[in-house]
Amino acid sequence: MTPKKFDYYAPTSINEALQLLEEKEESKVLAGGQSLLALMKLRLAAPAALVDITKLQGLSYIKEEKGYLAIGALTVHDLIEHDEIIASKFPILVDAATKIGDQQIRNRGTIGGSACHADPAADLPTALTALNASFVLRGRNGERIVPATDFFVDLFMTSIGHDEILTEIRLSNLPPMSGTAYIKHSRREGDFAIVSTGVVCTMGQQNVCKDVKIALGAVGPKPLRATASEEYLKGKTLDEKTIAEAAEKGVEGADPPSDIHGSREYRLDMIKVFIRRTTKLALSRVK
Ligand SMILES: Cc1cc2nc3c(=O)[nH]c(=O)nc-3n(C[C@H](O)[C@H](O)[C@H](O)COP(=O)(O)OP(=O)(O)OC[C@H]3O[C@@H](n4cnc5c(N)ncnc54)[C@H](O)[C@@H]3O)c2cc1C
Repeated sequence: MTPKKFDYYAPTSINEALQLLEEKEESKVLAGGQSLLALMKLRLAAPAALVDITKLQGLSYIKEEKGYLAIGALTVHDLIEHDEIIASKFPILVDAATKIGDQQIRNRGTIGGSACHADPAADLPTALTALNASFVLRGRNGERIVPATDFFVDLFMTSIGHDEILTEIRLSNLPPMSGTAYIKHSRREGDFAIVSTGVVCTMGQQNVCKDVKIALGAVGPKPLRATASEEYLKGKTLDEKTIAEAAEKGVEGADPPSDIHGSREYRLDMIKVFIRRTTKLALSRVK
């Protein structure tokens, strides 16, 4: 199918882009187009105008700032996959980016677009939830910074306003002795997740868990935190037994769908399996 007729704008400054979004009714931001254009071709979305932000300079970067890593919203998945700072400080994002679709999609799709699209089965939103990333939203009246827990609101829904643009994603530096990992469970390479898990853990002396964040993808309307598993692990020595017990608690709060890729019961089982595997992988990366 072809999309419905729409107007196209390619602003060259963020202020111009914000003005267009405010002025044009039923307009939408266009980034890599890997989700939005597919929806438009299927006529599941029919914006009257597209505001293409890919001509804006300075929104594709990965840089270390004081206390955090800043990733520009237009940074494509492929750059995240191959960035040395990310590989060393936040390998969870490499795990997630590597598993997105195929190379063509990773060349064009952006981290900002993936976050704003907010597909609960998408890879980066789950990893960003485990990292409790902060989202920098620019509007005509200034900037606001929203944590992941508030950014992802519901199925394909975020807290970003119609006339706002996500400009940057911030990841706070992790304390020493931290490890991160993400595992996607899908039938074929490049498919969307049936279940996915992201884990960020910080360890103390004698293998005692000081802090842990566990995020689940594809098992609810938005990326979820497995808070019962997290609470169980904090202060405990991490070994086969405690990790397995924590994984059992991972299903609390999850509400997975049944579809052609897997039943609800199968997904509930897989949550336990993948919390276990991902926690062990994160633990093996503690440094
Ligand atoms: C065949 C196929 C397979 C895929 N497989 C996977 C997969 O396995 N895992 C996965 O995670 N993803 C997958 N994707 C989706 C892919 O990751 C997209 O890149 C991503 O979801 C959207 O990024 P984008 O830059 O293309 O955004 P777009 O499609 O341009 O935009 C998506 C939405 O976000 C909004 N938006 C974009 N950027 C901003 C911004 N900076 N500020 C405000 N709003 C913004 C747009 O208005 C739109 O609503 C797949 C896509 C395709 C086509």
